[in-house]
This record gives sequence, structure tokens and C-alpha cells, in this order.
Amino acid sequence: MYTATPSRYDDMIYNQCGKSGLKLPAISLGLWQNFGADTSQAKVKEKIFRAFDLGITHFDLANNYGPPPGSAEAAMGTILNSELNRYRDELIISTKAGYDMWPGPYGDGGSRKYLISSLDQSLKRLNLDYVDIFYHHRYDPNTPLEETMAALDAIVRQGKALYIGLSNYGPKETKQAATILKQLGTPCVVNQPSYSMLNRWIEGGLQDVLAEEGIGTVAFAPLAMGLLTSKYLHAIPEGSRAAKNDWFKANVTEEQVGKVKELHKIAENRRQTMAQFALAWVLREGSVTSALIGASSIEQIEENVAALNNLSFSREELHAIDSIVGS
Ligand code: NDP
Repeated sequence: MYTATPSRYDDMIYNQCGKSGLKLPAISLGLWQNFGADTSQAKVKEKIFRAFDLGITHFDLANNYGPPPGSAEAAMGTILNSELNRYRDELIISTKAGYDMWPGPYGDGGSRKYLISSLDQSLKRLNLDYVDIFYHHRYDPNTPLEETMAALDAIVRQGKALYIGLSNYGPKETKQAATILKQLGTPCVVNQPSYSMLNRWIEGGLQDVLAEEGIGTVAFAPLAMGLLTSKYLHAIPEGSRAAKNDWFKANVTEEQVGKVKELHKIAENRRQTMAQFALAWVLREGSVTSALIGASSIEQIEENVAALNNLSFSREELHAIDSIVGS
């Protein structure tokens, strides 16, 4: 039987999520890869328990995480129904709907029909009465934003989610959605965009909207899916995400690895690993609420949480990073 370590809250940093009362750990753990049916339940458990012992209270899921879709929620549901059951009030569990999940016209997009039925399915897989955050996973141009936001509002009023979030929404859609949600009385608390040293699109308007609206930021893929670690400096190692996934492998180009080699020199001067350096940069000056990592091992989680030991950057370092990544 697992018992959480009493020192679990000693070192983690908890940041206020936008202007809400919700606090999120500076490092959160996502279950998109390496937590589905392709990973043993023992391995899933050891990573979740180690993360919780290190103060990671937030675990991020979506209906389609696996593979196959739904299996990451089912794996987490088994744990939530057993070892983590008594810690439910110490956990922030999020899930999402918005991508293709089941056949036919009602298993994708942003309709009320899809969002409410998908969350009902997620709650069953997760063995939960409610999730802490429910996200619309991506903007759907084919559904009126009013309908999608009213569905999110209804989900909160039905007690199936405590907070509402948006993911992969651009600045214009975020502003419109936030306005509708405010009118409905269910504020948007969090936005989940991709963000890393190599992927800075949110700096082109979204960050301003989030600051204006008092919405927190959970930055996904802060390690550029593994590229911003020392893993690919010399080759693509066996068992890595790039070795397993051709779509991701296409990102591991000579040009990108060349940039990481240069960045790695700055990391070494700071006495951080490349992964710690990349995470510290995402979290610098409180620019995001939480860096949402993935992990294929306990050691990665431990290494990544230790990034919190040094989150400050000199002006020279920031300038050098910008020059290397071409920002
Ligand atoms: P990361 O950028 O953190 O990449 C994680 C991968 O990097 C790991 O699987 C591992 O790869 C490698 N890695 C992690 N730490 C280390 C380390 N210390 N040393 C070496 N390699 C390391 O994020 P993800 O792409 O995994 O995304 C994180 C989460 O964000 C997801 O689980 C999900 O919750 C969320 N997400 C949300 C999306 C959305 O549309 N809202 C889309 C994508 C993700 P390896 O497996 O090769 O060891």
C-alpha cells in the first residue's frame, strides 16, 4: 500500500492560477504519452506516486490520451480508486475533450452534445464524481463559441468540474470565450498552450490576453517533447519518443539539435541539466503558472523538479538564448 511522504509539500512551489483562488504546482505531470495501455500499471503507479511525493499535485489528462484513447484515464482511474483515493482532496485532476474520440458526428469538436457526453465517459474511466479542471481541447470553428462556453458553464453548474479551461485557443478566440464565460458567471481560470524555448507563439498576443483577463497559463510540452533535453544531442536513442514516433522524429532535425547544443553550453554554465534549464526558462519571472511535463521514468521527474532550485536568469543569459533560438 502506498503512503505519501509527509515531506511532500516542503520544496514544491505553488503558483496562483491567474486571478483565481486555485494554486497549481510549478511543475505538473501530463499523461499524454507513457501512461496508456502500452505502459505497465506498475510503471504508471511508480511515476504518479513519485511525482506526488515531490509535491506534484496536478495531473493532466484528456479523453484521448493513451494509446489507445481513454487508456490513460483508465490507468489513472484505477489509482484514484485505490492508493490515491484518500488523497483526492490534495489532487488537481484535469481532463479535456475537443479532438476526435469516437465515430460519428458527436465524438469530436465543441458541441454541447460532445463535451457533456465525453466528460461523463471520462468521469467513469477516472472513477471520479468530478474533475478539478475541464478543458475544451481546441477551438472549433464549426460550433458557435456561445454553445461551447454554455456547455462548459453547464458542466460546472452540474458539479462535474470545479474550474473551466481552454487549450490551443489563439488570442482572439480566448478573449471572446473569456467574455462569454464571464457573462455566464463561470470564469475561464486557465489556458493550456504549448510553450518552450523553441516554440514561443504565445508571446505574439496570447500572453497579453491572459494577463488582461487574469487567466493562468499551464504550458504544455515545455521540453519540446524531449528535444530540449540532452537526449538527442548525439543520436536518437532507442526507446525515446522520436524512436517510437515518426511524426515527432521529423522535429529532431540537424538545425534544431544544433540549437540545443548551443543552449546546452549555457545550461552547463548554470550547473543545470538541459531539461532543468529549459523548464526554468519557461517558469522565469512567473511568466507561466505551471510547466506541464511528460516523463517516461521516475528519474526524469526527479531531474525536472530540481529545475526549481534555480529559476533566475541574467539579462545576458536571456539575450544569448534569444540569439540561439532566433527569437
Ligand atoms: P515534454 O515537452 O515535457 O516532453 C516529455 C518527454 O521529454 C518525455 O516523454 C521524455 O521523452 C522527455 N523527457 C522528459 N524529461 C526528461 C529528462 N529529464 N531527460 C531526458 N528526457 C526527458 O512534454 P509532452 O510533450 O510529454 O507533454 C506534456 C503534457 O502536456 C502531456 O502529457 C499532456 O498532458 C500535455 N499536452 C497537451 C496538449 C494539448 O493539446 N493541450 C498537447 C500535448 C501535450 P521520452 O519518452 O523519449 O523519454
